[in-house]
Amino acid sequence: MGHGNLKKIWYSPVVSRLKKEWNSEISWDEFIVMCGKLTKTRNSYRKRNNIPNEMYRCPKCKSEHEVKLELITVGSALYALMNECVISYDEYEDRHKSWTKYQRKHKLKANGQPK
Ligand SMILES: [Zn+2]
Repeated sequence: MGHGNLKKIWYSPVVSRLKKEWNSEISWDEFIVMCGKLTKTRNSYRKRNNIPNEMYRCPKCKSEHEVKLELITVGSALYALMNECVISYDEYEDRHKSWTKYQRKHKLKANGQPK
């Protein structure tokens, strides 16, 4: 779910923006929009600091390709909110359950975009 790459997403400007954009009444639609904004903040931070994307050896053509960074997912943003003590573990669990339901109902990808 992208929890493993916290370091590649949650740079301090991204965390600040998350805290600024977040409010406890936020709807899932707004949350998805927020994930898009956070993704932009992350991407421009990486660009500004010349952080290269990882490379991988492709099994098909045997050459190196860049690993494309994905959009920040709703699950990752929820996890970051808990990690920053903005929401409690219980709230994280509740919201995560509610997100999974919403995601299934509206047939969305983990980042909130349509499948
Ligand atoms: Zn290839």
